[in-house]
Amino acid sequence: MALLELIDVTKHYKVSGGLLGLTTGTVRAVDGVTLSVERGHTLGLVGESGCGKSTLAKCIMGLTPVTSGEVIFGNRSISAWDEKKLRSKIQMIFQDPYSSLNPRQKIGSIIREGLDIHGIGTREERREKVAELLKLVGLRPEHGDRYPHEFSGGQRQRVAVARCLALDPRLVVCDEPVSALDVSVRAQVLGLLKELQERMGLTYVFISHDLSVVSHICDRVAVMYLGRIMEIGESRTLFADP
Ligand code: ADP
Ligand code: ADP
Repeated sequence: MALLELIDVTKHYKVSGGLLGLTTGTVRAVDGVTLSVERGHTLGLVGESGCGKSTLAKCIMGLTPVTSGEVIFGNRSISAWDEKKLRSKIQMIFQDPYSSLNPRQKIGSIIREGLDIHGIGTREERREKVAELLKLVGLRPEHGDRYPHEFSGGQRQRVAVARCLALDPRLVVCDEPVSALDVSVRAQVLGLLKELQERMGLTYVFISHDLSVVSHICDRVAVMYLGRIMEIGESRTLFADP
């Protein structure tokens, strides 16, 4: 049973141009995309800059209304989900964790924020959960009292992963999660994502321009061009030597 299903999803942006901004046009950022992702699988989304990957991610997250078509998550149209509930079930990890971590907030408080917002558990239970999450991503309990700038890029991405797991999501949309990291750290973060997937039964949509990363972590890969899926298949087959 597919966890995520996209049926003929199209997203057009209206843009104005010309000298006075009087001419209007339409950008077909996503154009008739149909695909599905099975529970516990990873779908890679590759393609050059501007092909529509981020827009498709926004449609999947329910962050932007689709122009036409339907996004179905857990057997229910994304538009039928309670917003707050959906925000806990689908999480996102970004390229640059630093830009999404509040520099004035301690690591522990960053990770705990979702639990606070959703009013989950007692103070003590939340504290325990944070310690558990820190351990899960390979950090130590005392790291909770530090600030983002005291951490390396790889550690910051671990914090972002811990924060995203706090609410027990089903689907994680990873947008270039290792692209900003040193090559030596990439494999570690990818290894962590893979390990967590097996342990927690997570499903990933994995956006990347780096084919070596995609072939490493994805079961299936969709190649996008000008808003359309040009090719989709098992990564083993797509990346096999001819
Ligand atoms: P990618 O993530 O693959 O780089 P995007 O989804 O960001 O691609 O962009 C797809 C197309 O949609 C591009 O032509 C881009 O300029 C356009 N686009 C993206 N966001 C907007 C927006 N908010 N308003 C208008 N056009 C946009
Ligand atoms: P939304 O309605 O999703 O908030 P906006 O139109 O406000 O989208 O734009 C979101 C971001 O995308 C803004 O930072 C904007 O500058 C940028 N953007 C707008 N038009 C384009 C475009 N043609 N290509 C790429 N990015 C764009």
